[in-house]
Amino acid sequence: MRRLWLVLGVLLVAVIAIVALGRPWVWNNSAPVLTESPVTPPQAPTVEIIYIANEGVLISADGKRVLIDGLHREYEPDYAFLSPAEREKIETAKPPFDKIDLVLVSHRHLDHFHPESVGLHLQHNPRAILVSSQQVVDEVEKNFKDYQAIKARVTGATPPWKEKVAMKVAGIDFEILNLRHGTGRHASIQNLGHIIKLGGKKLLHIGDADTAVENSKSLISRKKELTLLSCLFGSCWEGTDRQSLKITSNQSRSLRSISHRQKGKL
Ligand SMILES: [Zn+2]
Repeated sequence: MRRLWLVLGVLLVAVIAIVALGRPWVWNNSAPVLTESPVTPPQAPTVEIIYIANEGVLISADGKRVLIDGLHREYEPDYAFLSPAEREKIETAKPPFDKIDLVLVSHRHLDHFHPESVGLHLQHNPRAILVSSQQVVDEVEKNFKDYQAIKARVTGATPPWKEKVAMKVAGIDFEILNLRHGTGRHASIQNLGHIIKLGGKKLLHIGDADTAVENSKSLISRKKELTLLSCLFGSCWEGTDRQSLKITSNQSRSLRSISHRQKGKL
């Protein structure tokens, strides 16, 4: 009898051993799954923004660089502009203003744009493509003497007021929105807003959009998905996700103050 129990015991141990070791997939299936993921460190910002002057910003993310309203000269002393040395760098595409893929201009006013500055940058940076309103394109064509050399990299895109157009240029997805500059003397100005899709974000720049309700309607309804680069109608809305942006001000002004409504020489 004792031998029988001994044999049964040995058999039991053998079965357990086979189940546990010989068929590990069974063991694994029944084992609690370790779903606990290791604690991930806070994500480093994936988007870097260099503030330039007035409403100019340089956005870098995903190996791409987009310049908005950064190529202008002194307009009036009350409007921020780059020093001559910095201006030389941006017009000749020297660091930190090199390797720019896409140049965008909100409108033709000289505190946002200078046709020669834009022309020079495109001439010195063969990868740069300009996309802007037909008014801006016409100004570059009229005032930049080597326009023929850059013409192939210039595109006009002007949707009607309150409408938008989605584009992909140089591998960068963005939207162009026609946001009215104003009435009266500004009624004829084509003012473009831009939504740049980089670094997992949708970055909004509105140029000089005025306070018309029609301007803000479509943007307010999308405010949760947008990160505001310039303040809309004088004040930034709540919830703008600035923590995930690395903001470099080369002019001791914060991005928050980007608006030509807060004038001042830097
Ligand atoms: Zn303007």
